[in-house]
Parts: sequence; structure tokens; C-alpha cells
Amino acid sequence: MDIIEKRVQAFVRVKPTADFAQDMIKFGQDNKSIDIYLKKDAKQGVVNNRQTEWCFRLDGVLHNASQDLAYETIAAKLVSEALNGYNGTIMCYGQTGAGKTYTMTGTSTDYRHRGIIPRAIQQVLKAAAHCIDRFVTIRVSYLEIYNETLCDLLATVASGGSGDVPLAVVDCPGGVYVKGLSVHTVNREEDALNLLFEGETNRVIAEHTLNKNSSRSHCIFTIYIECNFRVLSDVKCINSKINLIDLAGSERLSKTGSEGQVLKEATYINKSLSFLEQIVIALSDPRRDHIPFRQSKLTHVLKDSLGGNCNTVLVANICGEAVHVDETLSSLRFATRMKWITTEPVVNETCDTWWMVKTLEKEISYLKRELAMHDSLVNRSLVTYDPLTEIQIADIKSQVLKYLEGSIDEIDIVNMRQVQEVFRQFKQLVSQQEQEVEARLRSKYALIDKNDFAAIAAAQKAGLVDVDGHVVGDIDGQDLGTGSAHFSSKHGGKKMKLKKSKDQGRKEGIGASSSGKDMDVFLQSKTQVITSTKDLDVKEGARSQDAANIDTQPSKLASLRDSQQLSSPPSKAVAFEQFKKECGSEINRIFKENKSILLARRKRSTAVAQRLNLMKQEMEGIKEALGAQRQERWQQGEYVDETGQIIIDEEEFLLIMKLKDLKKEYRSDYAELQDLKAEIQYCQQLVDQCRNKLVSEFEIWYNESFLIPKDVQDTLKPGGNIRPGMIPINRVLCLEQDVQDGFEQMQEATLPACPDSLSFYNAKMRAEQKHTYTRAMGSLEQMRRKPGLITATMRSKAAASLR
Ligand code: ADP
Ligand code: MG
Repeated sequence: MDIIEKRVQAFVRVKPTADFAQDMIKFGQDNKSIDIYLKKDAKQGVVNNRQTEWCFRLDGVLHNASQDLAYETIAAKLVSEALNGYNGTIMCYGQTGAGKTYTMTGTSTDYRHRGIIPRAIQQVLKAAAHCIDRFVTIRVSYLEIYNETLCDLLATVASGGSGDVPLAVVDCPGGVYVKGLSVHTVNREEDALNLLFEGETNRVIAEHTLNKNSSRSHCIFTIYIECNFRVLSDVKCINSKINLIDLAGSERLSKTGSEGQVLKEATYINKSLSFLEQIVIALSDPRRDHIPFRQSKLTHVLKDSLGGNCNTVLVANICGEAVHVDETLSSLRFATRMKWITTEPVVNETCDTWWMVKTLEKEISYLKRELAMHDSLVNRSLVTYDPLTEIQIADIKSQVLKYLEGSIDEIDIVNMRQVQEVFRQFKQLVSQQEQEVEARLRSKYALIDKNDFAAIAAAQKAGLVDVDGHVVGDIDGQDLGTGSAHFSSKHGGKKMKLKKSKDQGRKEGIGASSSGKDMDVFLQSKTQVITSTKDLDVKEGARSQDAANIDTQPSKLASLRDSQQLSSPPSKAVAFEQFKKECGSEINRIFKENKSILLARRKRSTAVAQRLNLMKQEMEGIKEALGAQRQERWQQGEYVDETGQIIIDEEEFLLIMKLKDLKKEYRSDYAELQDLKAEIQYCQQLVDQCRNKLVSEFEIWYNESFLIPKDVQDTLKPGGNIRPGMIPINRVLCLEQDVQDGFEQMQEATLPACPDSLSFYNAKMRAEQKHTYTRAMGSLEQMRRKPGLITATMRSKAAASLR
């Protein structure tokens, strides 16, 4: 919502009088300024510094204005904004008899002379009656402040009051309110006016019984507007109020000449009005952070009605007679000061929960009726839309189980509640399944967090991981490594599983050591693998031999794979041969084809190069022979024909011709060699790429075939979005030691020197266990969220486990 800064508006209303001081008071052309001129006071002597001219600029000057015009100018806009949720305050300020009550209440005898309050009541109630998009509730209260005492002018009215509770101004987050003040709901204009008049009557009665003067009390008539929107989606509630204030006379004490009770009253009045002035000055100073609202009852009650988020209008009622010029000046000064106060009106919006519930209930019953009608039209008479009973839930559960088992193909959709219950049942089954998998994994392995340096240190101490966090292992005494077992966050793996048996762990075949003897193609990093074709070629020959000694029939290997999983995987050399025959056969074929093309090109290139060398040698020989011939000719004396050209013998001629041919051939072979070199480079790249692919696919295949536990694999099988290789191996790897063992070792080392550390370590371990568990659950949850991960296998497993 845009907050538009406004200022308090101030108007002047001049009471019509026959003695209007025309020489003294002048109005501006635009009806927005008023000038006061004073004649120099002869009594003050020759030297008279007193100011004699004042100019006040206000928002409007009402002179000889009807009550109609006064209302339109002063109040109509503020009231209509209040109907949209903005608080509004109108105050009449001025000396006694200047027309404050006339302006605010008007006369109760003549409708045309009714004041702002009855007109505002009318506007609000009319608007409320015409609202079609909201329910508007109007309430009113009437408060009088006399001698710092709060008085409920509507206490006599039956409803709305809180008995004899003394009134008190209460600050609360929603604003200031007067505790104990009766607030009356009004449905008709008449009721509201009736209350206004009742209040006026009480004011007069009080005046008589308490010997007070109404001009010395402040009266605040408040109209409360509450709008509840009828639209279902819009359950907000807008609350606003309009304070209509008839202030006590602002005349100065000296003028009244009061004594006794009257003096006391006048003091109070002046005090509260001067506090009001102080508040006004404070409010108009943006640097002031404290506003002393609580100094008087009046200012306290007006705390949220002056400036702030409220539309505020001040009416300075002045008398036009010359005799009252001092009071007039004082009132105009006050009005001008009020104009300095800035306001930021905002809509007072709340969400009415009670109303929301009511509206929703209504909507539900309406929709139920709609549904019933719809069902009867399509002959679905048995459907109910009430919450499901225990029996219905049990029935849905059994349907879901049957569906998972495959004994039924479909679950009939009855209504939304049933659909939701079906999903809930599925969810339950999946979560049970997850817990079982988790429990099974935990029964075999312990988890270690990669951020838990203590646990890693313990693992390092036990020789399970090297200083870089790599898992140490070997195959049959040979160090092997894939470089994929790092504690690398890139892999997304945050924990490693520690295998319980040390010997088994050593056989995992995953490590970081790079001194492999058998297949350094797997031992080095992949970039190293592709740099040397020779290596691979040589090794492949060796491997073929190895493979020949091993039974590598696919079926046998498959069973070997199953049986070896997690216990003793085959050596990578054997597995690689198997891989090339099975899953890797296609890529291996392409790799081989590319390689043979490369070899052919190389051969050809070597042959061309050799030929070029030979040609070069031959050309050198011819050049030498020609040189010798020339030398001889020169020594013997040259024969020259009639045109002056040297005559050479046949032998020299033949040599020259041969050299020419050789040069031509050389150039053509040289060009061929260049082409071959380019082709070789291209082929080499292809071969490297193929090798790379072959090796990486093999790594994935090897990890998933022999290193990832079977039950985890099952969850990754067909239909899953997790494709092979996406599960970082370090998430499912097994090491030989339990995390608890690590802590125990740590304790053994630390405890003798520092016995108090026991609780610390115990606490740390417990926290760690909890942490690890939470993480494990988190990662399972992540897996579960992958769409399509719930495979047919899982489904049947879930059904089986529930049977
Ligand atoms: P206050 O409340 O400021 O003491 P009142 O409103 O009681 O003054 O006005 C004093 C008298 O002047 C009343 O009789 C009232 O009817 C009359 N009066 C005040 N202002 C006007 C006006 N603008 N037009 C006609 N009569 C007025
Ligand atoms: Mg009055």
C-alpha cells in the first residue's frame, strides 16, 4: 500500500456577527488566507514595536458559510476515507461562543443547522447500507473530559456499557481506547442520532448537577466503522474510527476573571489545551522522538487521532468582533501550527479469524449442497464428503496393499479425501520401506561424517584413510586406485561407510595409491590414461593373455559378480575383460576400429616419409654428379652454339631431367605426408576419446557391480532417474572400522591425561550419532524425492514387508 504523506488540514470558520470588524479582518481572494490588521495603540506611546499585521494561510476560510458548505469543506472527504479504512479526526478549537458546538453538533432543533456529527452519522450509515461487497458494522461512543475526569455521556443507555467501571485511557498495540466507555452498535441513522442527543442531554444534566460549564469540557463523539468483506477469498477486516471533538473554550484565564471552582476549571482547561499545543508543536517537529501524550487525559485519548496514520482536520472557530482579536489571533496561530503536523494515513486492516471461519463454513455448506446436487444428477448417490472413518481408512489401506501386490490393477477414485488417503498410505509404506533399508544398512555398517575430523582422524590412525582422506586398499597385495574415493564434496558424498572386517575392506580394490602393476590404465588419473596410446596397446596385449587364463564366460561372471559383491570383488584386470565383452562391447568395438584406422594411417605415413628420405638422398647424389660435370666442362672449355647457349652432353642432360622428375615426385609425396599427419592427429583424438569413455564406463560398471551394496542397487534399478555413475562411490563404500571404535580409540589415547574429557567425548559421540542419523535420514529423504525412484521392485518389497 502506498503511504502518501499528508499534512493536518486547518480551516477557519468565522462566526457571523453584526459587529464584524471589517477593518481588522480581511480574507484572501482564494478563501485560503486571513489577514489581521491592528491599529497602533496610542496608549503604548510613540515608540511602539508591537506587530500590527498578521497573515495566516490555511486550507480554507469559511465566512458566512452554511452548515452544508462547512460539512462539505471540512468533513465529507475525511468521512468517506474513514469508510475505506482510514482513521479521521476533526477538532473544533476556539474561544467560548465562537461556534465550536455549532460547527460540531449544530442545533438539534433545525435540521438545516445540524452540525458535522449528525451529518457524518448520516453519510456513514447511508454508505454502509449501500455496501454490497462488505458487511459494515457501525458503533458510536460519546466521551466527555471535564477537570481531567473521563465521563461516559452514553452510560445511561442500556446496552454497550461495562457498568460502573471507572473509565481509563488504555494504550494497546491496536491503539488507544477508553476502558469502560460504552460503545453502541447502530443500524440506523436514527439510532445513532438518538445516542448523540442522549449524550447532549447528559452533558447538560451534568452541567447542572456538577455546577460546571459545558464550555469547559472537551467532548469526543466517536464513530467506529468495521468492514468485513463478503468475498470468500477476501476475509480481511477493515477497522476505522472518526473522532469528532468539540474542545473546551480556549480563552485565557485572565479574561474570565474566575475564582474558586471556576478558576480551577479554567486552569484545567488551559492546562489540557496548552498540553495539546505542546503536542502539536512536538508532532510538527520531525526530530522529536518523544511526544508527551500522557500529560493530560485529552492528549492521551487523542494519541492515535492526531497526525500519525490519521486524517486530521482542525477547525479554528473565531469571532469576528474586534474585542476578541487576541483570542482570534491565538486561535489562528494554533491552526497554523497544526498545519505543520505531517500525517501518513494508512488503512487499518486486520484479518478477522472469526469472520473467516464463518465465511468458510458457509462456503463449505454451499459446496456440499452443490456436490449433492451434482451427484444426484449423475446417479452417484452413495458418495459422502465427510471426513473418512477408521473403517474407510483401513479399507483404503488394504486396497493400496492389494494394488502393490498386483492383485488389483486399479484403485477406484471416489472423492478427493479418498485420493488423499491413498497417497498417504503410499507415503507410509514408502517410509516404512526406507526405515527398513536404513536399519539393514545400519546393521551392517556404521556411518562416518566427512566433517567430523575426530572420526576421520581415528580412521586415519587405524590406517583406513590416508592423509588426503582417500580410502586405502589393495587387491591381492596390489595397490589400486580409481581416484573416485576422495572425500570430495563434488561427489555430493558426505559420509562413508566403515566396513567392520579389516580384511574385507582391504579387498575392496579402491584406493589412492598409484603404483599399480597390473593395469595402470586404472591406477592413474584419467587424464594420464589417455596420454599414451602405446601403453594401452601394450597392456591390452598383456591383458588378453591374462584373460585367456581366466574363465570369462559372461554367465559365470554374472554369478561371480553377484557372489563377489561386497565380499571379494574380482581384480580389475579380469573385470575389464568381462566388461569389454558385456556392457562395454560396443564402445570397445568402436575403440578398436578407430585404433586400426589410426595404425593404418601411421604405417602409410611412415612409408611415405621413408620414400621421401630416399628421394632426398637420390636428389643429393644427382646434384653432386651435375656439379662434377659442370666443373669438368668448365675446365675443358665450354661449347656455345650460334645463339650463345651452352651445349651440354647427353649424360648431363639425362641427370638434369631425372632431378626434375624427382623434385616433382618429392613435392607430391611431401604433400601426402602433411595430409597424413593431419589425419593421424584427428584419429588420435578419436582413439583417446574412446579410450576415455571405455575406462570411465568401466569404472562405473565396476563400482556398481561389485562395490555398491545390492539393496542400494535395487533402489537404483530401472525407471530411476539416477543413472549409473550418479551415486558417488564414497557414499556407499565400506571401510573396515566402526565410528564407535574410532571414538573408543580416541578416548583411550586422551583419557589417561585428561579424565574429565569422558563426558565431553561421550556427549560428542552422542551428538555425532544423532547428527549422522539425521544426515542419513536426510539423504534417504533426498533419494525418495527423486521422481520415479519408487521402482516396481520397491513396490513389491513394500508389499511383502507389510504382509
Ligand atoms: P462554543 O461552542 O464555541 O462555545 P457555540 O457553538 O455554542 O460556541 O456558539 C455560540 C452561539 O453562537 C450559539 O448560539 C450558536 O448557535 C451561535 N453560532 C455560532 N456559530 C454560528 C454560525 N456559524 N452561524 C450561526 N450561528 C452560530
Ligand atoms: Mg460549546
